[in-house]
Amino acid sequence: MKSPVDISRVRPSHDILGLIPAKAARAVGALPLAVEGDVLVVCLADAADIAAMERVESIVAPRKVQFVEPGDAAEFRRALRENYPDAALTGELERPEALFAHVLRRALARNASDIHICPTEAETLVRMRIDGRLQTDLVRPAESAAEFTGYIKVLAGLDISEKRTPQDGSIDTESGGVAVSLRVATVPTIYGEHVTLRMLSQTREAKQLDALANLGFHPRQLKLFEESLEMPDGVVVLSGPTGSGKTTTLYAALRKLAAPGDLHVVSIEDPVEKPVAGVTQIKVDARQERVSFEKALRSVLRHDPDVVMVGEIRDGETATTALRSALTGHLVLTTLHTNSAPGILTRLVDLGVPPYLVASTLRLAVAQRLLRKPCRECMKWRAATAEECAKYGWDAANPPRLPTACGCAYCGNTGYSGRTAIYEMLCVTDDVRKLLLKGEGESDIYRYLKSSAPDLTLRGDALQKVLEGETTLEEYHAAVAEDIDMSGEAIDG
Ligand SMILES: [Zn+2]
Repeated sequence: MKSPVDISRVRPSHDILGLIPAKAARAVGALPLAVEGDVLVVCLADAADIAAMERVESIVAPRKVQFVEPGDAAEFRRALRENYPDAALTGELERPEALFAHVLRRALARNASDIHICPTEAETLVRMRIDGRLQTDLVRPAESAAEFTGYIKVLAGLDISEKRTPQDGSIDTESGGVAVSLRVATVPTIYGEHVTLRMLSQTREAKQLDALANLGFHPRQLKLFEESLEMPDGVVVLSGPTGSGKTTTLYAALRKLAAPGDLHVVSIEDPVEKPVAGVTQIKVDARQERVSFEKALRSVLRHDPDVVMVGEIRDGETATTALRSALTGHLVLTTLHTNSAPGILTRLVDLGVPPYLVASTLRLAVAQRLLRKPCRECMKWRAATAEECAKYGWDAANPPRLPTACGCAYCGNTGYSGRTAIYEMLCVTDDVRKLLLKGEGESDIYRYLKSSAPDLTLRGDALQKVLEGETTLEEYHAAVAEDIDMSGEAIDG
């Protein structure tokens, strides 16, 4: 028997719960928590109940079982009921308001960023995005979907009679005394409406991300980034795929710029993700001609701003206007969709911005990704293999220790908990300007960055964070390895 489990922190996955049928689990008071190796870890209400142990063992045979006891009996009963709803709770969950409260409570407890209500042919899945991955959290009968979706649409101020057109709205509510803001979007599918709820509320974890210093920058990166924000003019561009955390970084930068209160900071966003104190936030609708990014930007520039944030540059007109405004004494922050920091330079030129304008205004190009952190409860260290040492340039005679994600009750068996950001930073120096004006491509500029500042590449930063135990080689491969190989040579070679 292992030491007691802190039940308030466990989050068994849907798959793990499925290993013991609900009825049996409730009858014997058993909550499966995780699969560690080939052993199922099961928390048992009564650690001395031999009959219960035998029952569980026979259910999950031939899998071996390790029994643990709950640290708190009341907490355990609550968790058992929540994960294996009994008839009373199941009945209660048929009421859409009770189901909504239940789903919200679980999403907050599991630190989910999004909730999806997915209708399928046979059932309705409630899925949650945790650390960037979707997990099924609850399965409901298909028939209940329409009522549940209708309830959410009413809360979000949407037209419930309209089921054939995508709609979006928002919900401000509370759960367990915590204010919760949700952005709601619906889209018709062949089995009914799919609803996505994005959690905009400030969880404790999210609050920490308000400060630049907590975003996972290494000291050198943080210094470069902060220095670029201290400039009176110029352009700072962040890039990365959707969900790479660039908005979080931008908001933290805006907060820092607005905090002293002596700058007029204006942001143009589509949509406004969350209010930032001291920032004039303008909502545009890029799909409508009436208030495009470019038009909003032109009018904002007449309002004497010191700092302008343009949510995203998608076209040449906006790009040119944004970069031109930096020539006349404004600091401009924006984002672009590219794979690498050097790609920001070439993308701007591809959009039609004259290279001289890019060269004279761009100060810093940043690419970022989010990588999962290994769970602190179950992470193990191992020595790097000779092959890995050869591949990554580590000393094979003295191989570094590498973290391995394992999986336990506290991380929903995923082996990961939370995420960290990795960054690539290209400072636009005279050397980089020369490359750009010579018409060199992304791969040439990347090669320059890799040779002059290998620690400032996504790859260099990710490997550094692997050695620090902040992420794993597996995460590095999944997120980085392929898409930054632009030099034609093997990136890991
Ligand atoms: Zn774990």
